[in-house]
Amino acid sequence: VVMSAGTMNTLRILLRSSVVAGLGPIPNLGKYFSLGGDNLALYRLPRDIAPKKIEGHFLDAVMAVPGAKGFDHQSMAFAPPFLGGGWLMRALQGQRTLTMFGFGPDAMDGEVTWKGRGMVVRHQPQGVVARIRSTQDRIAQEFGRTKAPRSSEGKPARPWFSCHPIGGCRMATDPSRGVVDFKGQVFGHPGLYVADASVFPIMTIGGPQLSVSALASWIAERIVNEAA
Ligand SMILES: Cc1cc2nc3c(=O)[nH]c(=O)nc-3n(C[C@H](O)[C@H](O)[C@H](O)COP(=O)(O)OP(=O)(O)OC[C@H]3O[C@@H](n4cnc5c(N)ncnc54)[C@H](O)[C@@H]3O)c2cc1C
Repeated sequence: VVMSAGTMNTLRILLRSSVVAGLGPIPNLGKYFSLGGDNLALYRLPRDIAPKKIEGHFLDAVMAVPGAKGFDHQSMAFAPPFLGGGWLMRALQGQRTLTMFGFGPDAMDGEVTWKGRGMVVRHQPQGVVARIRSTQDRIAQEFGRTKAPRSSEGKPARPWFSCHPIGGCRMATDPSRGVVDFKGQVFGHPGLYVADASVFPIMTIGGPQLSVSALASWIAERIVNEAA
């Protein structure tokens, strides 16, 4: 059996199978999980600076931050067409709002467990989110922001959405440190494999799609070789 349903779906199926459906314990399942350090921030701009109409796609730029060493996180500003120019972005535009979405890899110390009839996700990427907020504040300052950001400033980082779930079925050299071996086979469950982003032991900086494909074909090769 090869599980390849994406991080959240693979975790849901394996946790349910393990806890409810009688598959038995899978050591470390759900640990070493992350949603990424995502932070959406809205800043009110002064009337004379806010553009009346923004054209084009979302802005994706690289800037040097004094004192920063290497890559730590990224932050993008959205223009309306990115979300289809829908009611939300029109409303934000009308309110002279600078909308920024930031992302950065974290320590992958979150955990997903099974409780009752569903999954419980525990993940609080405090460090990287604080750094993203600080960068977003500095960018907004350059735009002449006058009002405090309407993001969750001052509150603990508790993500309310994420595009970056990863881990939970960590690949490792032995069962004390992960869920699957280097072939993607679940420790203690011969014939059960995982081949998607849930096996990643660390978070990628960019989109992991190519790495997921490479990993899946590596695991497929191991399965074919073992069967031969
Ligand atoms: C750090 C990071 C950065 C990222 N950056 C980007 C980015 O810049 N741009 C971007 O587009 N994305 C980005 N992503 C998202 C990324 O594309 C996804 O994480 C990636 O596609 C996950 O691949 P996957 O194979 O694990 O799962 P998926 O691509 O979700 O594949 C799972 C497949 O299984 C199928 N499936 C689900 N449940 C079942 C079931 N019960 N039975 C049968 N089939 C099922 C689904 O339909 C789907 O086809 C990022 C993610 C991370 C972690």
